[in-house]
Amino acid sequence: MSTLDTLIQDLVIANRILAREEVVDAYGHVSVRHPDNPERFLIARSLAPELVGPDDIVELDLEGRPVREEGRGLYLERFIHAAIFAARPEVMAVVHAHAEDTLPFGIAQGTKLRPVIHSGSFIGPEVPVWDIADRFGDTNLLVTDMAQAADLAQCLGRNNVALMRGHGFAAAARSLIEVVRLSVYLPRNARALLRAKQLGGEIRDLSPGEIAARNRGYSPYSVETWRAWEYWATKAGCGHLLTRPDDGRSTPPQG
Ligand SMILES: [Zn+2]
Repeated sequence: MSTLDTLIQDLVIANRILAREEVVDAYGHVSVRHPDNPERFLIARSLAPELVGPDDIVELDLEGRPVREEGRGLYLERFIHAAIFAARPEVMAVVHAHAEDTLPFGIAQGTKLRPVIHSGSFIGPEVPVWDIADRFGDTNLLVTDMAQAADLAQCLGRNNVALMRGHGFAAAARSLIEVVRLSVYLPRNARALLRAKQLGGEIRDLSPGEIAARNRGYSPYSVETWRAWEYWATKAGCGHLLTRPDDGRSTPPQG
């Protein structure tokens, strides 16, 4: 299989995993930058992620326009992906979702979403909150054009995740496997933090040193990362689509 075909297959797997892990439902999407043309990205047509197959993947430019004539409907919020890929050349994959456990942290000002569990370290030390009303007033809260998406990308800055007030989150990473991992653990980290708040007392975030230590040991193709990807894909019913990474890309265990 070509690199492009493998990536499309991985994108299908990513869609199914995010659905199975309840990060997305009928709404929400994941994209990956085109391997041969950094000015383009791949994303499903307007379809619930659980139902996405290889034939549903379309190619868009960094304005969110389809590269080929496309009669099928596209995601209304595809501009989120276009703007983040445009603003962040190192980003290879993006997720936008409405995962319920993340929402309180975009609404309440009292507690910031911080990494508090080891698997939540990849959300990074800062999670900015983007409020569409700040620049665009009363909207339906959806990101439906490039101006809104560019504003969101600016708020995201160099961070891995931005919360979107009353709506959801946008996450960016260097690979599909990383953005899926990040998006799966983000709501779990949020849930742990909410429960810790209920127990009361001082809340201890991961320290900057702990976050750095986790990042230092991380590789998207390590045995440990692959273990999660394989597990999630199999659980989501698409283990047969898996393409194993080359052995040469494996790194020593670190988690
Ligand atoms: Zn949305």
